[in-house]
Amino acid sequence: MHEHSRRPVDFSADPQPERETLSKAVKRIQQLKSELNAIILAHNYMVPPLQDIGDFVGDSLELARKAAETTADVIVFLGVTFMGETAKILSPQKQVLMPRLEARCPMAEMVRVPQVLKLKDQYPSAPVVAYVNTLAEVKAVSDICCTSANALQIVASLPDDEVIFVPDRSLGAYVQRHTEKTIHFAHGYCPTHHRIRVEDIMELKAQYPDACVLVHPECTGDVLDAADRIGSTGGIVRMVEELKDKYQRFVIGTEKGLIYRLQQLHPDKEFYLPSDVVVCPTMKKNRLEYVLDCMENRAPEIEIPEGVRVKALEAVEKMMAVK
Ligand code: SF4
Repeated sequence: MHEHSRRPVDFSADPQPERETLSKAVKRIQQLKSELNAIILAHNYMVPPLQDIGDFVGDSLELARKAAETTADVIVFLGVTFMGETAKILSPQKQVLMPRLEARCPMAEMVRVPQVLKLKDQYPSAPVVAYVNTLAEVKAVSDICCTSANALQIVASLPDDEVIFVPDRSLGAYVQRHTEKTIHFAHGYCPTHHRIRVEDIMELKAQYPDACVLVHPECTGDVLDAADRIGSTGGIVRMVEELKDKYQRFVIGTEKGLIYRLQQLHPDKEFYLPSDVVVCPTMKKNRLEYVLDCMENRAPEIEIPEGVRVKALEAVEKMMAVK
């Protein structure tokens, strides 16, 4: 066997809540869900017990669409705060609960309003495309939002020859590879995706030459170059579905949580993570007991000043209108 032989991801090795505690908590969450007329939206990076209680599990674009169309009175959002904010921007009449308001994406904190205004001054004819991984106030000074699932389409939909792209420099550089427009990007990045090293991908490819490598565009350029395909988490789910007859093994270059989703959908396939450190500590601040607490207490909830919300809504709605 290879000296550093790598195995498929095995969630059963993770610390699990005691079975009785887990089933009690899940039962109470289900009761509260019907009492509150709530829907639970869970991001693909949630730990397994939280994906299991989600009414819907998906990427940020899929979750934003669900938040916009749900008839529930309360949205319990299991993800990071910019996602809960997007739900609130779209559905101000609904209460948006989040188990942990400290779950703030570090990339979203890297670009603030003054930096965006400075870029606008520097490139006055370039519209601002804000990745959804931004604070609501940054969306409010942007022209249109995008997610990793639709960034290429959004930039292509704009008539301008140059755009300002915030905050992710890796996603901005990926978009630049696919467009003749000039992209002026900011210098934010995802610390979790930047922990994926091309050496780890190459090592897995050497061990499993028959594996298909699928990575997220928040990864660095050398990792993207080593991949067979690049996509958002929702895109990776669709790619595995499309390629399942051709491949038995997949190397997944994104946060570990997505592998649980893929294992549920394709229990006969093997999924490998480039390294054990591709875990987002912010996403992992969400835990089952906190979900239960936030539903019992109907707090904490996402609140956005109305002036900011209305302006941010324009940028989010423009994104949603691009098919
Ligand atoms: S995975 Fe990266 S972009 Fe997503 S919440 Fe974590 S730090 Fe932010």
